[in-house]
Amino acid sequence: MKALYYDGEKAVYREDAPMPQCTPNRSLIRILLADICNTDREILKGYRPDFRGIMGHEFVGEVVESPDASLIGKTVVGELNEGCGTCIYCRTGREKHCLQRKVIGMSKDGCFAEYMSLATHLLHPVPEGLLPEQAVFTEPLAAALEITKQVHIDPALNAAVIGDGRLAFMITQVLALTGVSLTVIGKHPDKLEMFQPYAKTALYDDYFENGRIRALSADECFEYVVEATGNESGIHFALDIVRKMGTIILKSTYAGAANLNLSVLPVNEISIVGSRCGPFEPALKLLQEGRVSFPPVELYALKDYEQAFASRAFKAGFRMK
Ligand SMILES: [Zn+2]
Ligand SMILES: [Zn+2]
Repeated sequence: MKALYYDGEKAVYREDAPMPQCTPNRSLIRILLADICNTDREILKGYRPDFRGIMGHEFVGEVVESPDASLIGKTVVGELNEGCGTCIYCRTGREKHCLQRKVIGMSKDGCFAEYMSLATHLLHPVPEGLLPEQAVFTEPLAAALEITKQVHIDPALNAAVIGDGRLAFMITQVLALTGVSLTVIGKHPDKLEMFQPYAKTALYDDYFENGRIRALSADECFEYVVEATGNESGIHFALDIVRKMGTIILKSTYAGAANLNLSVLPVNEISIVGSRCGPFEPALKLLQEGRVSFPPVELYALKDYEQAFASRAFKAGFRMK
């Protein structure tokens, strides 16, 4: 079959990849669409140095073989963390934290291929009427929804999202649904335009004077600050703009170490919450009901992966079938 491999240095396109093995609790999925995530780009920069295998973790597919006969022929999306099933994390609904977990496209074969196998319990049927082109946003949207699972957002207060990329856009749409007064702070006026139906927008530079953060009044600061920039400056800026007793939610996963003065956390009683993958069912529901919407994915054939990875579109991906 056709597949896009990571060989430890770069992406390699193959047409002779072996079909995935379908062990008893797993299902075989024919991939229809697969999207490139920033994590895939990070992998090409060395984020997962020990990984060798098929890339990709955001997909919509069709179940070809499954121990659950009701799934065969269904269009599905799937969660990416496959736990051991027996440890304390797996037994208490926290499979994504299993120490033995395999993550598709990061530590086991992923979805940039014609077929993939995945633990059957991780599959979620796509509701009637939701097109694969929108359903493919389920995984990143679920990650945005995780914030509302972790932090009670008081809609009478205010929140900021730092960053103007894809993840920030999904988080913004999710937080806008709560009714909280929302501001998106980014570096690119052109990208910020897309956020204006959902939030106030502000430029990062407007918070600085002579290269330093300017003195901010309490009114200008935020109760909730979501950091979604993908770089270290984001957490420093989050600490600058969060109110006393406020909450910072860290969404970007960057590999570097951040040099922070942690004394402000006890003094100002700031909470920091790390946030990763989230619930698929509510994400599918929001997409189906059209309560969130995203620009169309720019689709390529798998062999044209170089163009796909270089794309500046909101989301680029592969059409497999
Ligand atoms: Zn992703
Ligand atoms: Zn486990």
